[in-house]
Amino acid sequence: MGIIAKPDLDTDWKDSSNCLGVDPDLFFPERGASTREAKEVCRGCIVQEDCLEYALANGEKFGIWGGMSERERRRIRRQRALERQAAARTAEAV
Ligand code: SF4
Repeated sequence: MGIIAKPDLDTDWKDSSNCLGVDPDLFFPERGASTREAKEVCRGCIVQEDCLEYALANGEKFGIWGGMSERERRRIRRQRALERQAAARTAEAV
């Protein structure tokens, strides 16, 4: 993801990332291009979870973050939204 962090958010985790010094273009492949190389860098990155949560919290629409593509992150956001809706319905029913 090349870590283009918004300055007002906690991004201390980036200092421990596997992608420090790696060409940011690797994490923003052209549409349809392979994401395999970027995901290889992410594999085993000790801040993978922080990176993914940062991207989810900030609605990052492009690039590989936390080892996941835009499509994979969209799936997580949808799943979490469904879980929140289900929890809200359960809370209302009690
Ligand atoms: S998970 Fe990937 S993109 Fe995120 S900090 Fe680690 S190496 Fe970089």
